[in-house]
Amino acid sequence: MLKGLIWGRSSFGSLRNFSMFEKIFDGAGAASGLSKQTSFKVDYAPTSITKWRSSRTGLQVTYINQASPIVNGYFAVATEIHNDSGCPHTLEHLIFMGSKKYPYKGLLDVLGNLAYSSTNAWTGTDQTVYTLTTAGWDGFKMLLPIYLDHVLNPTLTDDACYTEVYHIDGEAKEKGVVFSEMQAIETSSSFLATLASQRALYKKSGYRSETGGLTENLRTLTNDDIRHYHKSMYRPDNLCIILTGSVDEDELISIMEKFDNELPPISTIPQKRPFIESPVDLPPSSSITETVEFPDKDESSGEILLAWIGPDGMDLLMNQAVDVLGEYLTNSSIALLRKAFVEIENPLAVSVEYYTDDFVRTGLNLYFSSVPTEKLADLSQSVLSLLKEHTAPEKFDLVRVRDVLDQMKLKFIYSAEVNPDIFSNIAISEFLYGNVDGSDLPKLAKDLKELDELYNWTAEQWCAALNEYFVENKCAILLGKPSEKLYKTLKKTNKELLKERKEVNGKEGLERLKKRLEQAQKMNDAPIPDEILLKFGQPDPEKIHFNITTSVGAGLNKDVPQDGAHPAYKHIQEDSPKNLPLYFDFERIPSEFLAVNVLLSSTAVPTELLPYLDVMSSIFSLPLVTEDGTEIPFEQVVKQLKKETVSTNMRLSYKSHLDEMVDVEIVVQREKYSNAVDWFYKLFYQTKFDETRIRVYLEKLVKGLPDLKRSGTDMLDSIFARTVFTERSTKKSTDFLFTENFWKEKLSLIENGKYSEIEAELETVRKALFEPSNMRILIVGEVENIKNPVSEWSKFLTLNTSTSLQEIPRSFNFLSDAGLKLEKKAYLIEAPGSESTYLHSVHRIPTDYLHADGPAISLAAAYLQAVEGPFWRGIRGTGLAYGANVYKEPEHGQLVFSIYRGADAQKAFEVAKTIVNDYSSGKTKIDRMSMNGAISSIVNGIANSESNYYTAAYYKFFDDALVKRGPEYNKFLLKNLRKLTEEDLLRVFTKYFVPLFESKTSTVFACVNPAKSSALRQNLEKVHGYEVSVEQLPNAEENGSGSEEDEDDESASDTDTDDDDETDSDSDSNSESESAAKI
Ligand SMILES: [Zn+2]
Repeated sequence: MLKGLIWGRSSFGSLRNFSMFEKIFDGAGAASGLSKQTSFKVDYAPTSITKWRSSRTGLQVTYINQASPIVNGYFAVATEIHNDSGCPHTLEHLIFMGSKKYPYKGLLDVLGNLAYSSTNAWTGTDQTVYTLTTAGWDGFKMLLPIYLDHVLNPTLTDDACYTEVYHIDGEAKEKGVVFSEMQAIETSSSFLATLASQRALYKKSGYRSETGGLTENLRTLTNDDIRHYHKSMYRPDNLCIILTGSVDEDELISIMEKFDNELPPISTIPQKRPFIESPVDLPPSSSITETVEFPDKDESSGEILLAWIGPDGMDLLMNQAVDVLGEYLTNSSIALLRKAFVEIENPLAVSVEYYTDDFVRTGLNLYFSSVPTEKLADLSQSVLSLLKEHTAPEKFDLVRVRDVLDQMKLKFIYSAEVNPDIFSNIAISEFLYGNVDGSDLPKLAKDLKELDELYNWTAEQWCAALNEYFVENKCAILLGKPSEKLYKTLKKTNKELLKERKEVNGKEGLERLKKRLEQAQKMNDAPIPDEILLKFGQPDPEKIHFNITTSVGAGLNKDVPQDGAHPAYKHIQEDSPKNLPLYFDFERIPSEFLAVNVLLSSTAVPTELLPYLDVMSSIFSLPLVTEDGTEIPFEQVVKQLKKETVSTNMRLSYKSHLDEMVDVEIVVQREKYSNAVDWFYKLFYQTKFDETRIRVYLEKLVKGLPDLKRSGTDMLDSIFARTVFTERSTKKSTDFLFTENFWKEKLSLIENGKYSEIEAELETVRKALFEPSNMRILIVGEVENIKNPVSEWSKFLTLNTSTSLQEIPRSFNFLSDAGLKLEKKAYLIEAPGSESTYLHSVHRIPTDYLHADGPAISLAAAYLQAVEGPFWRGIRGTGLAYGANVYKEPEHGQLVFSIYRGADAQKAFEVAKTIVNDYSSGKTKIDRMSMNGAISSIVNGIANSESNYYTAAYYKFFDDALVKRGPEYNKFLLKNLRKLTEEDLLRVFTKYFVPLFESKTSTVFACVNPAKSSALRQNLEKVHGYEVSVEQLPNAEENGSGSEEDEDDESASDTDTDDDDETDSDSDSNSESESAAKI
């Protein structure tokens, strides 16, 4: 598993193939520069992989052929640097500012918008990767040569560098997209700990560098440095184009050869291969311990990172072995480290995670979060001692390590089936570190031979590996410690620096800076000539092929249209008794696996017990009491469950929609269907709410609170949920601030020997929630090939007490008065641990998915928030915030304007308001081309959210059975989108978007640093007329935070503690990618 810090550019885009590209095909294929290096079929997935390399230029192309409506491209450059200037990261941003052939900022995005594509990029410690995601090959092949021209021949103008990287604005504030991005994260605990570990372990290679750029270095970085860096790294022989999905291979080769022919030949002076030909750092000769302070007022908990330099990255067997060991140590509640330090009374950490850095030698990391500050040093030593003790073969659990191996293998195969990203990641690693002849690619991807070989390892062999890489091997120990003093110093310094900049520049100087910025913005924003854009037509969205699944309902399910001719239908009907009082939905897709979901309504649970829903997810690690009264210890349960399933999950929501539903999911191999059903029965009805286990669970909930309070997004979500929803809603009743005292009281009940009260309440919740009349059973997979699809569940019937099914809980029925009205008020919450501002402004819209205004509202939102669209240029481009979006939530009846990581939230809000008002008044004209782009970004969003069969099936059930908006919803949306005119857009701008920024008709929510709170409050009150209330957390009240004197501090420092660009930590679920795009 690769983690590594990564900076996403965050964007969307679009597709199409047209005349200017037909020209490019002319004469292609004449000179055959690309030669095939390897081509093979993957043994364990429906995938084949081919790689080519140009002998003339060294350019590489890897194609991962796996059927999908989405074609993904990854353009990878190996990027090594020996300083913290941020060249790799700034370059990543500047690539999108124009190329020699197409010198227009945002051209890629505007064209992409027209072509169902989106572009993005990331910078890691050893790589910069540009991505292109397109619905269909036609759009992809059109954009490919343009994109490549940007990567290899960017304009890199001084003006672009000025606005994107760093500048001082007319108010002496430090701005620049990259600068603000890094400022927002560089004082967070995980950033500081990771950088400290790089410094400690790597002395010679580029792995020690902060490739994102430290703000102090970004201040002095010059455009010449960046140009020079581009020249040295962005060479054809240091670039690999990786594609996944269904493409026309001949066309691909012909486009790539045409491109390759225009490139200069590989230099006769040997070029150094990044990292491979650099000095290699070996593990340190003695352990290094360092305390890394990070700023926060709450000093109660910190974190620990243990980092080692592990085996050679191309030693495949040993890399697999350490990965298995990492899982063995951390992957479940019975794993060694979790059992010893997390799953105990008074936990020493809330979680422990293992991840690797896939470098020349693999970096191994163990990360402990929410560790009581006074225990930081002790815990790190206890971990090392425990690892040492465990190198005795008699202590090593050979049975469990084999279970872990089985589990990893199944999960890997399942992931490979649903998501070709696994292979693109392998292809990127192979390009960075593999042999240039391509021979390593099949070794890395063709089979799972190493896992099979490890299956035969003895306890001695495992212990030897554990000893070699985690015990004898010296590590870096980083103790992340919160510091209130540092928090205050930073505040003060930032304020002083701002004052100093004002003085140094003086009035005239600032005026000059203002002009300089305006001039640069004007140059950057030079309009793209219509002739270029007009060469591209708008493709027909109905041509996009969506994955189709077949539904079969049984029992109480009358929601889905049935296909009586399908073999699955017959198979299921034959197994269904008449008047079956259970609800079944089968979605037939091609797969080796089955995902079984039991969906429950939270309305069955009494209001005052709703917080317990959080605890119900512990059912996967509780003891069981079988029918005959035998108790099976929880360790046994966890072991068995891991053995028989691919993944298990319980979530409050249905795939991120419908918050009042509870979704319990078990994924298994197809032949293990009966095990899955059996597990549902045992987990629902036979688990024992064991005092020790529940206590540990509650303690972890409480100990994790400081971390949540440091996160601006979590805090904003909290004040939003607690205001907009009633206590009947799980959104409010399971909110971490709402339940803080609830859990503390429960813990003191346990302290006082009254656990039985809690147990009784949990039993009440169980009984109500898992009542069969509250279940909708959804089964996704090759359902015609499972035995007893319906009758397998007969055990549940004996428990049935009612034949009427619980209603589907629609979110809009759980809104509070404030949530229904959404007017006049602004709710602020202060978070000392988060320096950026996060803000929502919310206005009422219809809750009906099929409302006539629905498509126009979606289009208006897509229009405003498009990459290089009005909000992007007006808010992100001017450094007011990292992101500004607008989206609708019909399920809540809400239209939301959202500021993400705001540096200057007041101004961002005002800019958005002006933009919208200017459209409404006719001052700014609506542009047809941008409208087409917006339509295409919606189409791209739909294709992406349904890019594999599983997500397509989940959405089908959502459309047909849950919100009942009809099986043809996609078609309805697409058809109506294309009919919309400029007038329609104007109408919804006036009707819904103007009121979004008016205090009479909207409500504002914001999470703000105490130092910025009063300025925001005053602005919302005096300028906009909101009635503002400010919530302070108990430990933020002292020392007068939010006092007026801090006012001018606005935007000076933007720290934030959450790692927003990293992927969701819930790695279990591959089907979590559904976004709100479709809604
Ligand atoms: Zn960035």
